[in-house]
Amino acid sequence: MALENFITSDYIQKCFKKYMTKMICTDYGFECDFAIEVDSQDSLEQFGMHMDQIHGIEYQKESLMTMLTSKLNMKS
Ligand SMILES: [Zn+2]
Repeated sequence: MALENFITSDYIQKCFKKYMTKMICTDYGFECDFAIEVDSQDSLEQFGMHMDQIHGIEYQKESLMTMLTSKLNMKS
């Protein structure tokens, strides 16, 4: 699934409305205080960009989608 379709899917939009979804570096084992509230494609891509630029790990869009999904599943 394309990232655009994923972000705009009913399930994800419902989750965004219900929960504040924060992607936090420490959750992924980095000693870093970067955190971003994810509620759009832009913010998810910003998180990916931070991972790439600061931690040197390039996450594919598919990986970011998986990370977001598991984050949302943890809360429900
Ligand atoms: Zn970081």
